[in-house]
Amino acid sequence: MNILILGGGGREHALAWAVMQNPKCDKLIVAPGNAGIAKIAECASIDIEDGAATTTFCEENAIDFIIVGPEAPLAAGVADDLRRAGFLVFGPSKEAAKLEASKAFTKEICDAANAPTAAYARFTEAAPARDYIHQQGAPIVVKADGLAAGKGVIVAMTEDEALAAIDDMFGGEFGAAGAEVVIEEFMEGEEASFFVLCDGENALPIGTAQDHKRAFDGDEGPNTGGMGAYSPAPVLTQALQDQVMEQIIYPTLREMAARGTPYEGVLYAGLMIKDGQARLVEYNCRFGDPECQVLMLRLGAQAFDLIHAAAEKRLDTARVNWADDHAMTVVLAAEGYPGSYDKGTEIRGLDDLVDTSWEVCFHAGTRAEGGKVLANGGRVLNATARGDTLQQARERAYAMVEAIDWPEGFHRSDIGWRVLG
Ligand code: ATP
Repeated sequence: MNILILGGGGREHALAWAVMQNPKCDKLIVAPGNAGIAKIAECASIDIEDGAATTTFCEENAIDFIIVGPEAPLAAGVADDLRRAGFLVFGPSKEAAKLEASKAFTKEICDAANAPTAAYARFTEAAPARDYIHQQGAPIVVKADGLAAGKGVIVAMTEDEALAAIDDMFGGEFGAAGAEVVIEEFMEGEEASFFVLCDGENALPIGTAQDHKRAFDGDEGPNTGGMGAYSPAPVLTQALQDQVMEQIIYPTLREMAARGTPYEGVLYAGLMIKDGQARLVEYNCRFGDPECQVLMLRLGAQAFDLIHAAAEKRLDTARVNWADDHAMTVVLAAEGYPGSYDKGTEIRGLDDLVDTSWEVCFHAGTRAEGGKVLANGGRVLNATARGDTLQQARERAYAMVEAIDWPEGFHRSDIGWRVLG
C-alpha cells in the first residue's frame, strides 16, 4: 500500500515509525516531514491545508491511504476533499472536526448526548457575559469558541481575571475564534487523556496518557504544546475507561451520526477525574503531540492495522494486542520556547542513539542540512522509551536525553512525577 501522512512534527514521526513497522506498507510519503522522518520515509513539500493540491499529489503518486496528523487540514476540510476524490482517509470531516474547532459545538453535543461535562453558558456579547461571571463568581473558566492554539482558555482564579478575559476576547484578541465565548464551571480533579479510534459507529480505545503542559519542572512557567508524556495513565482505571466509553464516547458518536456527520478518526478526550467520576474537558480530533509518541511506541506495527480498520469501517472486529508495558517521552525544546527562540543550532549525538522497539528519538522541529541536523522549531526532539515499568521507561528516556549534545536546548527533568514522584 502507498501511504501518505500529512504533518511534520513528533506526532507524525511516531505515526510514520509505526506505519513503517508494518509489512502492508510498500511506500510511505510524509508531507512536509522533518529530518528524522526523512531517514525512514520520503518527504514531500505540499500545502497540506490545500485540499485540491493534496488531492492532485495523491493522484500523481498513486496514494492508497492518507493519514491526517494535525488539526489545521481537518478544520480546512482536506479530509472531505480527499474522500470526494475517492481516497481512503483517516481523519474526520470538517463538520465532525467541529468537536475540536468549536467549544460551543462540543457543549451542544454533550447536552444532546447527556455526557458529563462542566456546566456552561455561551455568549456573543460582553455585557451578559460579565453579568454571568458576577453571578457565578470565581474560579471560573473563560474560553474563546474557536481554535486558538491552546491560548484561548483562561482558567480565572478571580472575577477580575475572568472579566479581563472577556474584554480581550470581545476586543478581538483571538479574531474570529473569540466572536463567541463559552464560560464554564471550574472543575477540580486530575487530568488525563483518553484516545479512541472511531469509524462513525464503532469505537476502540487505544490507550491513555498524561502530558505536562508547563515549560519547567514542578509545573512552573508558561503553558506549552506539551513537554513530555507517559502512557498508561494509572488514574484512568479500566472501570473509568468503561464509564467514559458508555457515558461520553458512544453517546457522542451516536449524536454525531444522528446529525448526519458521523465521526471517523481518532477522538482524543481530555478528561477531569474526581471521586471516581470522569467529566469531559475537551475533545481533540487528532492525536495529541507528544502523547502520540508514547501510544505509537506501545502499539508498534498494529497501530497501522487499527488506523486502517477505522478508515475502512471495520472497527467492530478490530482488537488491540495489549502489552503489559509503559512508555515515556521527554521533549527537548529550544531555549526560549514557548517564547522566541533561535533556529538553526546544530544537534549532535543523534547517530549514536540506538533505534529499537524500546527506544526511539522522534524528531519534531528539525531539518537536515549538509549532513547535519539543525533545530527548526520550538519543540525539537522527543526522547521516547518503553519499559516493563514506568521507572524503567523513564531511565531509558533520560539516558537518551543525556546522550544528545545540544547546548541550545532544554527539557524538564520531572516527566512522570504524578506517578513516580
Ligand atoms: P489545548 O489545545 O492546550 O488542549 P484548548 O485550547 O483546546 O487547549 P482546553 O483543553 O479546553 O483548551 O483547556 C485547556 C486547559 O484548561 C485544560 O487542559 C485544563 O487544564 C484547563 N481547563 C479547561 N476547562 C476547564 C474547566 N472547566 N475546569 C478546570 N480546568 C479547565
